[in-house]
Amino acid sequence: MDYLVLVNKDHPLPEGWEEKLKTITVTNSIGDQIDIEKKTGEAYQRLKASLEEEGIYIDIDSAYRSVEDQRELKERFLEKYGEEYTAKTVAEPGFSEHHTGLAVDLYFRLKEENETFTDIVENEDLVRYPEIWEKIHQKLPEFGFILRFTKHYEDLTGDSYEPWHIRYVDSPEIAKEMTEKDLTLEEYLNKS
Ligand SMILES: [Zn+2]
Repeated sequence: MDYLVLVNKDHPLPEGWEEKLKTITVTNSIGDQIDIEKKTGEAYQRLKASLEEEGIYIDIDSAYRSVEDQRELKERFLEKYGEEYTAKTVAEPGFSEHHTGLAVDLYFRLKEENETFTDIVENEDLVRYPEIWEKIHQKLPEFGFILRFTKHYEDLTGDSYEPWHIRYVDSPEIAKEMTEKDLTLEEYLNKS
């Protein structure tokens, strides 16, 4: 498994990837069953536990997606948000990093005073909590994750900043280097 695989609008999912992919299934707070690449899922569980010690409760909205799932997602976004926003935020089927199983879209749960949780899931709600994202992003490299679509990525490509989309690269050292130097995966791999 190549944990530094590049999938973007210029690089489709490598052939044969899905046959090699080993996934595990996790159930989120909403009850959805989410498939995720095995090591990515295990690292995610450690990240989640570490953040809970600081009172931050993350969960998975989406991880592995088949090409067919991506087609359906794009249809839903077109109906809900229109063409311009969809073009900036939803990859073409076959060209989504989610096909690798290594990408995770997070949401979080706010703990209320009466100990119940409120799920914050929709993109337009998630962007209203930059201070929570900052704490989540700080923890990512230690567990081998990077923030994939940074503000720097947005400046370079015009594709939207996505605080929720994280990518497993398997190596805390590589993740730390990319984060400290503010390099996109494309820049790190010298394939931009
Ligand atoms: Zn995503």
